[in-house]
Parts: sequence; C-alpha cells; structure tokens
Amino acid sequence: MIKFLDLEKITSLYSEELHCAAKRVIDSGWYLQGNENANFENNYSKYIGTNYCIGVANGLDALIWIFRAYKELGYMQDGDEVIVPANTYIASILAITENNLIPVLIEPKYETLEIDEDLIESQITEKTKAILIVHLYGRCAYTDKIGEICKKYNLKLIEDNAQAHGCYFDNRKTGSLGDAAGHSFYPGKNLGAFGDGGAVTTNNKDLADCIRALANYGSQKKYVFKYQGRNSRLDEIQAAVLNVKLKHLDNDNDRRKTIAKFYYDNIKNPSIVLPKRMDDKQNVYHLFPILSSNRDALQQYLTENGVQTLIHYPIPPHKQECYKNWNTLSFPITERIHNEELSLPISPVMTIEEAKQVVELLNKF
Ligand SMILES: *Cc1c(COP(=O)(O)O)cnc(C)c1O
Repeated sequence: MIKFLDLEKITSLYSEELHCAAKRVIDSGWYLQGNENANFENNYSKYIGTNYCIGVANGLDALIWIFRAYKELGYMQDGDEVIVPANTYIASILAITENNLIPVLIEPKYETLEIDEDLIESQITEKTKAILIVHLYGRCAYTDKIGEICKKYNLKLIEDNAQAHGCYFDNRKTGSLGDAAGHSFYPGKNLGAFGDGGAVTTNNKDLADCIRALANYGSQKKYVFKYQGRNSRLDEIQAAVLNVKLKHLDNDNDRRKTIAKFYYDNIKNPSIVLPKRMDDKQNVYHLFPILSSNRDALQQYLTENGVQTLIHYPIPPHKQECYKNWNTLSFPITERIHNEELSLPISPVMTIEEAKQVVELLNKF
C-alpha cells in the first residue's frame, strides 16, 4: 500500500538525532521556557528572515494571538473586518471570529486555489483592518498586488504559513512577507513536532512582546499580569525536536519537489486538472492537490488499488455548522474546489517508484 503520509518512516530518517534531543530535555530537568525554546525561536526567525519568533502551543493559537495582540495594541477592535480566502482550513477563520472580528470571505481562483487578488479591493470598507493570506497546500499566495492593496488601504498583511515552511516569494520566505505570520508544527506539517506546536514570526517588536506575554498568562514579569492571557507555550521537548527537524527541512522539501515534478510531468489524464504549476521556490508541496469532477469515484478507485488519498477539505467553512449564519451564502468556486479536490500521497520518504504507480493508476482511470 502507498500511504498518504508515513510519519513513522519520516521520523526514522532522523531517529538517532531525535532520540538524543528528547533525551537531552528529559535529563535536563527543565521542561518549559528554557534553552531549547530560545534556540528554536532564534533558529526559526533566522530561517524565516524576521527579527522575532515566539513559540506558542499550536498554529491556531499563533493566528489567534496575532489578532488579539493587534487589538491589545489598539490597531483593531471588535467588529472590524478581516479579508480571508473562502477555501481555507477552518483555523484561519476561527482565529478571526475568536477575536470578535468579522471574516470577509473571498473566492479563490480555480486555476491556482489561492485567493483571487482581483476580488479583494471591492470588499474593502472602513472597517477592514487586515488581509489574512493562506499559503494553502504549500503554495505561496502572496502577490505584488496584494502587497500594494495593503499599502494603499493601510491594512495589516497577515500570513497563515501553517502549510508552507520553507516556501519563497522572490528571495523572501513566506512568513516574512507581511506584518506577522502564524506557523503550525502539527506532526503532519512540513516542519512537524511530536505533538502540537506553533509560532508567530514578525519584525514588529511591540507585537512580539505583546504575543509573548499573551501566551504566558498575559505576563511579562513573573506574577505581574498586563493582559488577560492564556497558557499557550511551546514545550522544551517539541522545541528540541523542531531544532533537529529544521536542519533537514530544506532537504525534506526538495524531496517533495522531486515527487511533485514527477506528478506534473507524467499525469496525463484529461479528466484530471492539476493546479497551475508554480516556480519550485514558491511551492513546498505540503500537499499535492488534484481536481476531478469525478472525485469520489477516483478516490475509491485509488483506495481499491492500494493508494491512500485525502480530501482537503470536504466541507468549506461557510457550509459548516459552527458558522450557521453563513450556510446560505454562495461561493461557487470554493464549493467546486471542495467537491473536486483530492490530495495525492507526497512526502520526503515517498519514492519515485511509488509515484510511478500512482501516476499509472491515474492515467488509466
Ligand atoms: C494546520 C493548520 C492550521 C492550524 O494549526 P494547528 O497547529 O493544527 O492548530 C492553521 N491553518 C492552516 C492552513 C493549517 O493547515
């Protein structure tokens, strides 16, 4: 069987280093807010190219803290609007509504699966305070036009970089393109921990200080509480694991790119649509989405032939029960993508031989 993602095998690539790192923490007697976290924050901010990195409990919290900090600092208030793609993972939207801000959903382009930059400007009101772009599937969603819109209307540009560690726009990494970015280290992400983990990157010192406090009970000084914060910290074992895996991330991403190239060069079934191919620097292939109007049958056929696939995602946010008020809204392109999307296996441990089997099956379908 060809697994969708073989985490056991990925871990085994770096098994010795990872065991060493975890053991070092276990034996140290220091499990939170120690050297591992400080080193990771330093290493990751250098890697992304920002002045600050704050390790937090998970990717959703990273995004929640960015908006919350902008509220604490007086840049945003309840009822302000945030522009966000309609076809994103629910966490992007939850981070907005958790802060009593209003998501303004924008259709993606069917060809790229990314937010349609031409639909943004007409949705801007005097309440609009930010654009949250999502580098979904590992594809860079930033464009010069989005940057210009943010400047023109004085909007914060926030990146959801949960799926795109190591991705570039020109010579800058995603996560450093806007005012702040949220990162997830959920185990299945390109940079994954052995549990939950996340980070915020930014060049803004006030924002960084505020987020660091918010994620630590609202405290900057022990037993003195400036904000009504929460406990949302990255623990030392996760930070130690991430320090190991960060060293191998570019190599891992290159192996994903090799598989992706094979898929792009060899999938020839006219009933299957591949998203527009990007320059290799602008895509780290967290996932390899394909589109088919016969998606469910295609998935079943692949399953029967020993190929695991997943759907990212079966139901768009505006059709979810948690956002009942939006259920009657219509986003035809988003809905079409959610009906047609199928993610093929791709990972740093997948072989070309396996990719060949997947391609042969797809071309016969
Ligand atoms: C995984 C993910 C998140 C949330 O990260 P967690 O660490 O699981 O909380 C946010 N946005 C996107 C696009 C994601 O894929």
